Amino acid sequence: MAFRAACPACNCAGEYDLLHSLKQTELGWQLFCELCGESVIHFSTEEKEQIFKAMQLTKEYVPDVINAYGELNVKELSSRVAFGAIAKKETEDKA
Ligand SMILES: [Zn+2]
Repeated sequence: MAFRAACPACNCAGEYDLLHSLKQTELGWQLFCELCGESVIHFSTEEKEQIFKAMQLTKEYVPDVINAYGELNVKELSSRVAFGAIAKKETEDKA
């Protein structure tokens, strides 16, 4: 998954593969500019894990629309649409 970031030192707009570009340093996990080597961004280990987990979930999530629709049992739902006030049937009025 590509990550775009501009370097604060040389203003180079780089595209980075976070999985392979982050380097562990004393500040946590850092991404360095591919042109000048300046630190572009840094994350704590906890932040890095959260980001990677979110990337993994996003990548793996494919909505199962067909089965989700099948579970609704749409054949038992009313297919009639009407507008206006609901009128009582004559038999109900006499009862
Ligand atoms: Zn740079």
